[in-house]
Amino acid sequence: MKKRSLIYLLPAVLFMSCSDEPINELETETGIDKSEIPFDNIELAFPGEAGKVADVYFAGKKIPVENINGSLVYQGDIIFADDMVTNLPIKIVYNKGEKPSQQKSVGRTSSYWPDNIVFYDIDGSLPDQSRVTDAIAHWESNTAVKFVQRSGESNYVYFTPGGGCSSYVGMVGGRQNITLASGCSTGNTIHEIGHAVGLWHEQSRIDRDNYITINFENIASGTEHNFRTYEESGYDGDEFTSTLDFGSIMLYSSYSFSNNGQPTIVKKDGSTYSAQRSGLSSGDTEGISSMYPGETGTGGTVAPPPTEPEPTPTEPEPTYINGEYYTIAGLTVLRKKDKWLYKKDRGGWQEVELIDGTWYNVD
Ligand SMILES: [Zn+2]
Repeated sequence: MKKRSLIYLLPAVLFMSCSDEPINELETETGIDKSEIPFDNIELAFPGEAGKVADVYFAGKKIPVENINGSLVYQGDIIFADDMVTNLPIKIVYNKGEKPSQQKSVGRTSSYWPDNIVFYDIDGSLPDQSRVTDAIAHWESNTAVKFVQRSGESNYVYFTPGGGCSSYVGMVGGRQNITLASGCSTGNTIHEIGHAVGLWHEQSRIDRDNYITINFENIASGTEHNFRTYEESGYDGDEFTSTLDFGSIMLYSSYSFSNNGQPTIVKKDGSTYSAQRSGLSSGDTEGISSMYPGETGTGGTVAPPPTEPEPTPTEPEPTYINGEYYTIAGLTVLRKKDKWLYKKDRGGWQEVELIDGTWYNVD
């Protein structure tokens, strides 16, 4: 994974009940015989519940979120804090001479847990807390991330009961809940912790179309937004491994959000696959080691910095093609006559130029 390929990013539909029987409330609602539905153990914050889908702005781009019980839910099991999004576009194009604000995206690069340490606490009323301790033990023995019981720290993960399985992505500041319904397994908990440390769903990779086909015709109406890449949804991110990892614990299954029992995600040869929720795959741990370097199993023991700074690899100048759209520094721009144009909210095109990573209007 080179970028968050482990992208671990987002969500899906079913999850296991205590009896290991899959529960698929969406399919039940649509009258599909769930006995025909292959096992699907995906996480949902509010299984069986739907909310109004509304567009909000995150890092200057419009993304769809579902408002369920007052929570802003993105891709099934990711919760947005109210102050992470706005109803109006965040300013990302400035006039010359204007000083850009410090408003930065909350992309995963800025929302890692410092020093590889995730502080946490467990709600005393959470049943079967071994799900949490087992999931944490799994993380600590397979990654360099360390989990420390909170003692007054202000930023921490709080494992608490909820209607489904859900998490925020990355460290958001303050207390951030991971909700675990009784049906959320240890594997689901490992998945939600993946979100909390910054992973997107694996099928949200930018390059996912090289490996999978999304069958939009089989997706339950109103849930299509769950199948966007993180980039299409306005997020920053990185693929940290070179290919999509079908073994990733962050991958949706072939039947996630199906409206008809037919697969919503298939491999390029048309075949289906099942999503595992047993543990982190080798691809998962590879990506996590890029985000949280250190010796595996030592929990946060980070290698000392090299005495000599590593040379920054020089990247070839990108070649932009006139007539093509690109998304750069949060703005979707059209290349035309070797200049950049973007479409303003009220219509019309504005020429802009990129200076030190910030877009400025060209008079
Ligand atoms: Zn998820």
